[in-house]
Amino acid sequence: MNRGMLKLYRLLKLHSLILLFVLPLALSAQNGFKFNLIQKGKQDNNTLLVVGGIQGDEPGGFISASILATHYEITKGSVWIVPNLNFYSIIKRSRGPYGDMNRKFAELSTADPEYEAVTRIKNYIKDDSVKLIVNLHDGSGFYRKKHEDSMHSPNRWGQCSIVDQSNINVPVYGNLKEISSEVVKHVNENLIKDEDIYHVHNTRTIEGDKEMEKSLTYFAINQGKAAFGNEASKNLPTHKRVYYHLLALEKYMDIMGIEYKRKFTLNAEGVYKAINNDIYISLYDEKIKLPLSEIRNLVNYFPIKKNGAVDFKASNPLLTIIKNNNNYVIQYGNRRLSKLKADYQDIEAQHQSVKLLIDGKLQNVKFGTLVDVENNFLVEENSAYRVNVIGYTNKKQKETGIEIEKKEIPNRFSLDKQGTIYRVEYYTKDKFAGMVLIKFKT
Ligand SMILES: [Zn+2]
Repeated sequence: MNRGMLKLYRLLKLHSLILLFVLPLALSAQNGFKFNLIQKGKQDNNTLLVVGGIQGDEPGGFISASILATHYEITKGSVWIVPNLNFYSIIKRSRGPYGDMNRKFAELSTADPEYEAVTRIKNYIKDDSVKLIVNLHDGSGFYRKKHEDSMHSPNRWGQCSIVDQSNINVPVYGNLKEISSEVVKHVNENLIKDEDIYHVHNTRTIEGDKEMEKSLTYFAINQGKAAFGNEASKNLPTHKRVYYHLLALEKYMDIMGIEYKRKFTLNAEGVYKAINNDIYISLYDEKIKLPLSEIRNLVNYFPIKKNGAVDFKASNPLLTIIKNNNNYVIQYGNRRLSKLKADYQDIEAQHQSVKLLIDGKLQNVKFGTLVDVENNFLVEENSAYRVNVIGYTNKKQKETGIEIEKKEIPNRFSLDKQGTIYRVEYYTKDKFAGMVLIKFKT
């Protein structure tokens, strides 16, 4: 690999780019919201399967799975991650628009809208290479063995490691309760506060828990696979739930001999940043790349391909774009980040670079790039393109060959809430060609 290739390769690895397509809101769950399977590490027969998002109102669980996908490098062993099992319920921010998916693993009608997703995940669970499964949940309150008060009691589900029974008779990882105890111990050595203490919660499903018999983990143990539920508390903010889930997942990896490199510091602040910083979506073969951390709730006149198709790449599997009439909603798990109001255009196939003077220095800039500017920028005249600096106007009706400063573009035209990022759009005679973003220093 030459240096350029290597750089590209590293960049791709760094962001674990996931190619996705726009999901029209009207599509039913079985067609439009397929879950991702992300296979990391070197495939072997000692694979950890991590499942998030079986219920869409438990963001701690599904965000943890997605952070494992995007912010961990597996250096030894094999990890499979499903970060968005019930993606439709995640988008709807609902426990289960078609009922509780975690009660569909015993019997399920082929007519059920989730039949295909449940069958697919069952096949991954049954796969010979998978030896241990962790299903991530957010539960209410704090599980305690004895009743303390209504929020801390045996009836609560938050902050525990769940097993269906103490042991199963399988060649590896059959000592469920012992493994669960090790995970609990590791979490408890790293508590943010004492109230968050973890316990092993044995649901003793086989002794007659008719509800839990229909769950994913119970299905798994009956396929001869070690399976655990991991619960964080809904009483905690999402990033703290994720912190606890990740502590547990790291211990499961340790137990299985899976090694990893984490790309952030595992504490509440580090997790918060991993969730919220450096998230982006790029469109049309990277002619546009949108940073999403601080994007405005509404972006007007946004170039969208005339037929309405939006193929995009996202930095995170929980990011998607949903078409709703002429609006394109960018969704990140449960959160709606922005609404792009479509300005329908034909999209130019050519992908070129353009010349800008950035603080007086000439730069070749590829479409889809964000350029940092200290004081001013100037778009070089280019006979191939008509240029539109969104929000900038002057008497000459001309936007090229002129030094432009931040104060010359009204704040409301910025892409971000802080008023620092602005759009420079290039058009050929009748097509949208590409976008460059200017980021002014604050
Ligand atoms: Zn749950």
